[in-house]
Amino acid sequence: MARFERFANTARIGPVEVGDHRDRHGRNATIAACTAPRCGWSNDYTSRAAAELAARTHTCTT
Ligand SMILES: [Zn+2]
Repeated sequence: MARFERFANTARIGPVEVGDHRDRHGRNATIAACTAPRCGWSNDYTSRAAAELAARTHTCTT
């Protein structure tokens, strides 16, 4: 299970959690990470909308 201590505005869309954070350049970014066991899918997005769309359309491969 992923942890999101440093993430703001976390939301759960199905098995996927979405949260805003600062990337290593100090810019706002949004990460989407699947919490399903054995999936491990996650991605960084430059906009909240992109992350939420990816979360909504994600299907686990296991
Ligand atoms: Zn998944």
